Amino acid sequence: MSDLVRVAVYTHFARTGHAPAAAELSADTGLEPADVRLALAALHESRDLVVERDEIVMAHPFSSIPLGFSVMGAKTLWWGGCAWDSFAIPHLLDAEPDVLVATRCPACDTPHAWVVGRQAPPAGDQVAHFLTPAARVWDDVVHACANQRLFCSNRCVDTWLDGRQPGYVMDLATLWRLARGWYAGRMEPGYVRREPATAAAYFHEVGLRGPFWGSR
Ligand SMILES: [Zn+2]
Ligand SMILES: [Zn+2]
Repeated sequence: MSDLVRVAVYTHFARTGHAPAAAELSADTGLEPADVRLALAALHESRDLVVERDEIVMAHPFSSIPLGFSVMGAKTLWWGGCAWDSFAIPHLLDAEPDVLVATRCPACDTPHAWVVGRQAPPAGDQVAHFLTPAARVWDDVVHACANQRLFCSNRCVDTWLDGRQPGYVMDLATLWRLARGWYAGRMEPGYVRREPATAAAYFHEVGLRGPFWGSR
């Protein structure tokens, strides 16, 4: 039952850019509203969704709240979640081989945009900064996503941190490799999600290593 609702949520997000209401999920799945609510609670518990007061906040990489990014496809516009999630969307959607990802540098407000596709990382010398170590992402996942942003340069990251402890900085190519396979299979029934706290091997493969990524 939960997986049926999960797939319905993802299908709706992919098609419309928005989270479905409980009534739409009920219509899409044929389940009673009470069963939809139970499934949403179970999916929140299993970290397949982020649900607050029966509202779907996040179905990674989709988000129903703005977190600094827009992702524009051929016919659909999404809030992109974080930098990682925004770069993941074209890898997940068969009908959207490339998308326009847009944001503003959190330090200096300079606008940035890239066409992100499946074949190769976008050009650009901007950097991604992730504040929260992989093992801590689900302590407060909305906070973690809200602080996975793209900046003009290391200098802008330093300005934005303003003396706070830095997280991890990567170039666009590394961000693209991180995003490429992370959500593979998520649109299909029977998907089993990856847990950031235990994904050191995946991170290592895409070029991310060290304590921040759960490895040495
Ligand atoms: Zn900047
Ligand atoms: Zn995110």
